[in-house]
Amino acid sequence: MIESPTCDVVVVGAGMVGAACAWYAARAGLDVTVVDRGPVAGGTTGAGEGNLLVSDKEPGPELELALLSGRLWSGLAEDLGRAVEYEPKGGVVVATTTGALCGLEAFAAGQRAAGVEAVSVPADRLHDLEPHLAPGLAGAVHYPQDAQVMPALAAAHLLRASGARLLTGRTVTGVLGGPDGAVRGVRTDRGDLHAPAVVNAAGPWGGEVAALAGVRLPVLPRRGYVLVTEPLPRRVRHKVYAADYVADVASDSADLQTSPVVEGTAAGPVLIGASRERVGFDRSVSLPALRALAAGATRLFPFLAGVRAMRTYAGFRPYLPDHLPAIGPDPRVPGLLHACGHEGAGIGLSTGTGHLIAQALCGERPALDLTPFRPDRFAEEAA
Ligand SMILES: Cc1cc2nc3c(=O)[nH]c(=O)nc-3n(C[C@H](O)[C@H](O)[C@H](O)COP(=O)(O)OP(=O)(O)OC[C@H]3O[C@@H](n4cnc5c(N)ncnc54)[C@H](O)[C@@H]3O)c2cc1C
Repeated sequence: MIESPTCDVVVVGAGMVGAACAWYAARAGLDVTVVDRGPVAGGTTGAGEGNLLVSDKEPGPELELALLSGRLWSGLAEDLGRAVEYEPKGGVVVATTTGALCGLEAFAAGQRAAGVEAVSVPADRLHDLEPHLAPGLAGAVHYPQDAQVMPALAAAHLLRASGARLLTGRTVTGVLGGPDGAVRGVRTDRGDLHAPAVVNAAGPWGGEVAALAGVRLPVLPRRGYVLVTEPLPRRVRHKVYAADYVADVASDSADLQTSPVVEGTAAGPVLIGASRERVGFDRSVSLPALRALAAGATRLFPFLAGVRAMRTYAGFRPYLPDHLPAIGPDPRVPGLLHACGHEGAGIGLSTGTGHLIAQALCGERPALDLTPFRPDRFAEEAA
């Protein structure tokens, strides 16, 4: 007997990426079920900042995805903007030395050629943009296309607006396959869900879900902390960070790296990042990392020395060895698609990812070339 599917597609993971996949798939007319073992945004989505950045991306596939995603975010903001605290506030990348400024200018020139708006800001105009910045900085580049959302709200509102069926508190324990090897749905700890397509949007656990389908996808966690200050009147207007942040993002080192990233929020607290280290899923508090974050932030904004930090939280960026996400159908298992491994950019890149996944599910030509994001690109390394 042929089992009738209970829906067209099961999305595993109710983080920002799963929410965006559900939204675009539902808008394309598909019947979508989203399943998560925890609550909505209980994974990395609830543990990061919500920057939608082009400023930190070098020309290439990730930047193209960021530009596509940015356009989609601003479209979404017309309906959901207030609810998800969408703020098109722009980013400012500052250089502390003339040497760093030369590197930053060269980086920005490449980005401009790839379609990014990047405006050079000389040292004597910096305080027009950010009045509370430290004195003596060498200069900056202003990126008007950078924006911000509140990630947990964004995932929750997008899921609700999608109309997708949402099953929380259910762990996916297997991927169901037919005799032809194609996907038939998922097994959960509370019963099977039948569908001809399954989207792996399990963030840092994307490798585990891939393994349930019998394929290798080497997604690993890269820990990061955020320090949250007491609520303040708005004193940091943009997302502001030091030029060394871009090198930290691209680094392959497992050691602790911190470069100051500071931004105000609509709700008042200032968010201070960003640390990166590879320590598995270790949630313990690291005082050296937090001290380094606080020290870096006060170097950029001296007034922060007199502000109290209210809390800190840790999250695990889902990374793949080449720092690009896996997006699209897995040629090894018909019906299995991946949307994971977005590292420190999954909030920003979620809309483009969801759009590309919906196009793949509907057999449409993708808006971007999916080759750099191929989920099976690491398969050879295992052999
Ligand atoms: C400190 C920090 C700062 C960051 N700042 C930014 C930023 O400013 N901008 C930005 O774009 N990105 C940022 N990021 C990265 C961003 O948070 C992630 O890329 C993004 O949240 C990934 O979303 P996701 O939906 O793929 O994964 P997650 O949010 O982790 O969602 C995956 C979900 O899958 C579920 N799941 C896993 N396995 C199973 C299973 N077997 N069965 C059922 N459910 C399962 C989990 O419960 C989880 O809810 C930051 C990250 C950190 C840590």
